[in-house]
Amino acid sequence: MNAISKPSNGAYNVVDHTYDVVVVGAGGAGLRATLGMGAAGLKTACVTKVFPTRSHTVAAQGGIGAALGNMGEDDWRWHMYDTVKGSDWLGDQDAIEYMCREAIPAVYELEHFGVPFSRTEDGRIYQRPFGGHMTEYGKAPAMRACAAADRTGHAILHTLYQQSLKHEVEFFVEYFALDLIMDDEGACRGVMAWCLEDGSMHRFRAQTVVLATGGYGRAYLSCTSAHTCTGDGNAMVLRAGLPTQDMEFVQFHPTGIYPAGCLITEGARGEGGYLTNSEGERFMERYAPTAKDLASRDVVSRSMTLEINAGRGCGPNKDHILLHLEHLGADILHERLPGISETARVFAGVDVTKEPIPVLPTVHYNMGGIPTNHHTEVLRPTKDNPDATVPGLMAVGEAACVSVHGANRLGTNSLLDLVVFGRAAAQRAAETVKPSASQPPLPPKAGEAALDRLDRTRHAKGGTKVAALRETLQRTMQSHAAVFRNSESLKQGVAKMQQVWKALDDMSVTDRSLIWNSDLMEALELQNLMGNAMVTMVGAEARTESRGAQAHDDYPERDDVNWMKHTLAWCGDDGSVTLDYRPVKMQTLTNEVSVFPPKKRVY
Ligand SMILES: Cc1cc2nc3c(=O)[nH]c(=O)nc-3n(C[C@H](O)[C@H](O)[C@H](O)COP(=O)(O)OP(=O)(O)OC[C@H]3O[C@@H](n4cnc5c(N)ncnc54)[C@H](O)[C@@H]3O)c2cc1C
Repeated sequence: MNAISKPSNGAYNVVDHTYDVVVVGAGGAGLRATLGMGAAGLKTACVTKVFPTRSHTVAAQGGIGAALGNMGEDDWRWHMYDTVKGSDWLGDQDAIEYMCREAIPAVYELEHFGVPFSRTEDGRIYQRPFGGHMTEYGKAPAMRACAAADRTGHAILHTLYQQSLKHEVEFFVEYFALDLIMDDEGACRGVMAWCLEDGSMHRFRAQTVVLATGGYGRAYLSCTSAHTCTGDGNAMVLRAGLPTQDMEFVQFHPTGIYPAGCLITEGARGEGGYLTNSEGERFMERYAPTAKDLASRDVVSRSMTLEINAGRGCGPNKDHILLHLEHLGADILHERLPGISETARVFAGVDVTKEPIPVLPTVHYNMGGIPTNHHTEVLRPTKDNPDATVPGLMAVGEAACVSVHGANRLGTNSLLDLVVFGRAAAQRAAETVKPSASQPPLPPKAGEAALDRLDRTRHAKGGTKVAALRETLQRTMQSHAAVFRNSESLKQGVAKMQQVWKALDDMSVTDRSLIWNSDLMEALELQNLMGNAMVTMVGAEARTESRGAQAHDDYPERDDVNWMKHTLAWCGDDGSVTLDYRPVKMQTLTNEVSVFPPKKRVY
């Protein structure tokens, strides 16, 4: 054990570890990377703040997209077209080609790992329609979402965890990663973590660190994501002086249960569910004549909001929409949607076989994140080289922005992203990392800044509780970076965010211990949320167009001339944000498919 002495209260004991690879996060992305690294013979540690199978991936319901063609003709090129169109032409087409092509072997691999998919009569993987997934470049809904009833994430996560245990990887469970260790040359050399159970500090040295820390839905008041989704990896990247990408693109899922916010999967509409307004009208037929209720999420969420704003919302306050499943019959609901039937009963008091579910658009997914190439290597774009990478750092899953989702993600493409790019990370590491190669010593003060921050936070003696600060942050995001945005509201949003940032100085942490100190952990998570939220708001204010999830009232059209580019955002210690941009990749990886040039997005 080494001791790093701290001025304020003596010493923190620091335990040193050396691995070839350290993966931070044990959701679908982290576990797929971990198991691949282990299989490649790399000495691998997986650090996670919750037990692996409690990661948010466990809550994924509807399915994982792949053009298997089990229930009708399909082609990965159609899947690629849908994804490019869904992204509103902000996705990188080389990465999208990679994901949609690799989807097919990746899903079969999951099947062989043991994922208990639902089955067709003849024993193949069952596939259901999902929003924005069409056949023949937009003609009719495609059967592409491979599903294990409505518990697909649960099935995948448990299987991946079991597979990881087969290899000699080590899990550090309930360890909270604090910050990256960077050297003077700008390479990542490891990560610092706090063991929640015994309060010890850990310094992991590694040839490569993989961030798989998930999204930051909890920056909003109403979201479908778990309380653990606080964008910790994104914030670590920002604190390391690296940029995040496209953070203004936040997906609202059309069917969060009103008012709790829990998710009713789009698979419910895939199975034939539909939405109505207070007049009983199936209004999606007006907004998306071809895809109707299965248009992509941004389109459906906006349509619902417009209906409510026009006074056609349901209930005494005319503030929600109804989702009907009762016509599907109890047998189908029981077989294909058992999980959401239960969720609707518990959270809305509704029996889905008899009555509709009250729903409202709810924050669901972060398209933005840590910029990477399709090998999952983290980018540090410079003026001369927009594709320059950070040695020793990778990112996968919802924390990453490859970018395969661009301005709007299609349903089922996230579970896909996790396994395709988790696997890609392992493949890349197998090429670039030499097993057990000796590593140079860490820089002299490695990890001290992280412990300083932890120490300052632990002893914060201000007058405002963490929960109160967090709520102000969440309310600001909810009202100023919403489904519809406008210049005035975004400007106010930025000003309010700056106030919230300053208010963090007045934070109060009352529990000073290091063992199971949830007060301190929530304070650190709040700091992380803050960085994520700040770059989201500032990026949204700067983008004067409407594209995908960014619907700007004052700039209602997509502006490809000025804005077909990725936002890069750096955030200083004082909350000041610097923006820059990098081009969207408008080329494919192979000549088996051609680039899809931008066109108007109609469903
Ligand atoms: C309710 C719901 C339903 C969904 N349904 C679908 C669907 O049907 N199909 C689909 O494609 N997508 C779906 N999604 C989206 C998809 O599930 C998520 O985007 C995806 O699971 C994220 O996976 P991940 O591995 O990136 O992160 P997560 O599963 O969120 O895991 C993050 C991991 O990082 C760890 N971690 C975070 N911070 C730290 C830290 N500081 N220190 C240590 N460890 C840390 C956590 O412990 C956890 O293990 C759904 C999402 C939700 C919320």
